[in-house]
Amino acid sequence: MEIFKEISTRGHEQICYFNDTEAGLKAIVAIHSTILGPSLGGCRMWNYKTEQEALIDVLRLSRGMTYKAAIAGLGLGGGKSVIIGDPKTDKSEYLFRSFGKFVNGLSGRYITAEDVGTTVSDMEYVKKETDYVTGISHSMGGSGDPSLLTSYGVYLGIKSAVKFKLKRDSLESIKIAVQGLGNVGMDLCKYLVDDGAKIYVYDIDESKVERAVSELSAISVSQEEIYSQDVDIFSPCALGGIINDSTIPLLKCSIIAGAANNVLEDERKHSFDLMNKDILYAPDYAINSGGVINCYSELEGYNKDNAFTQAEEIYNTLLNIFNLALTENIPTNLASDRIAENKIQAIKKQKSINMSENSVI
Ligand code: NAD
Repeated sequence: MEIFKEISTRGHEQICYFNDTEAGLKAIVAIHSTILGPSLGGCRMWNYKTEQEALIDVLRLSRGMTYKAAIAGLGLGGGKSVIIGDPKTDKSEYLFRSFGKFVNGLSGRYITAEDVGTTVSDMEYVKKETDYVTGISHSMGGSGDPSLLTSYGVYLGIKSAVKFKLKRDSLESIKIAVQGLGNVGMDLCKYLVDDGAKIYVYDIDESKVERAVSELSAISVSQEEIYSQDVDIFSPCALGGIINDSTIPLLKCSIIAGAANNVLEDERKHSFDLMNKDILYAPDYAINSGGVINCYSELEGYNKDNAFTQAEEIYNTLLNIFNLALTENIPTNLASDRIAENKIQAIKKQKSINMSENSVI
C-alpha cells in the first residue's frame, strides 16, 4: 500500500504508529483534520486480521469524525485510534497506560475516548498518563457513558425528520421500528414512547426485547420482519451496512433515522436508492452526534444541562440538511457532507487570513 498516496487522497494530516512490545501494544492514531480544533475520536480495539485492515479502518473512521464534529458545530477536528488485539483477552492496565503515554506525546493534537472494544474503565488507565482523554466516569470528573446524550439526539433527529416529512410536531401515533435495544436503542425507545409513538422492536438479545415489551408496551417482531414493518420510521440502532440492495426493497417506511454508524452499505448508491424511493434518510453522523457533543462538553468542564442544550441543535441541523437536499435535489448525506465541508473551508480561509495579517505585522 502506498501510504502517502492513501492518506493524501483521504486528506489526512498525520498517521502515527505506536509500538510497545513489552505492553503488547500495537496502535495506530490517524489525525484527519485539526482545522476546527484538536482531533477527537474514540479508540477502537479489534482483532484485525491484517495491519492494512487496521489502517484502512482508522483512516475511514477518523475522516468520519471530522464531518461529525463539523456538522455538530464543535471546535474539534477528526481523529481516531485503533489498537490491534482481542478486547476479550489482550487488555491490561499496562497496555492502556502505554497507549496513554503515546497519546500524551501528541500534545493534544489527538484526544481519545472509548469506542467499540474499549470501555470507560480502560480510559481511566489512559487518564493516568494523559489528560487528552474524554468519556471517563463521573467519579473522576468525566462525562461518563455518552449513550444517553446520543439517544436524546437521535430522538430529536427523529422529531426533526417527522416535522420535515410528515409535517407533525409530536410523535403521537407514529409507528417506529427500532433495530437494536442496546445502550442507545433502549433509552431512545423510552423517549419515543413518552412522546406517544408506537414501537416495534427486534434485538438478538431476547431479554432486551422482553424488557421493551413489558416496560414500554413494545411489539416484538422477528429479525426479517423488522425491515418490512408497515411503519412510518425505521430506526437502526445496532449495526452498520444494513441498508443495502437486499433490505431497501423490503422497506415500507418513509423515514430512516437511527443511531447506528455507516448505515448505508454503499454510501453513494444506496443514498440515491432511498431518495428515489422517497424515503428521507437522516445522515448517521449528524443524527448520532450526541456522543461527541458529550465528550466535547467534558473538555470544557462537564455540565450535563449544557451538554443536553447543545444536543438540541441536532433538530435544526437536520432540518437544514433536509432543506438543502430538497433544494439541490441531492441525497441527504451529500447535503450533510456539503454543509460540513463548507464549515471547514470557511474556518480554513479565516485562519489563512489571520496568518497573512500577522505576517504583515
Ligand atoms: P450496544 O452494543 O449497547 O447495543 C447494540 C445492540 O444491538 C445490542 O443490544 C445487541 O444485542 C444488538 N444487536 C446486535 N446485532 C443485532 C442484530 N443483527 N439485530 C438486532 N440487534 C442486534 O451499542 P450502542 O452503544 O447502543 O450503539 C448502537 C449503535 O449506535 C452502534 O452502531 C454504535 O456504533 C452507534 N453509536 C453509538 C453511540 C453511543 O454513544 N453509544 C454514539 C454514536 C453511534
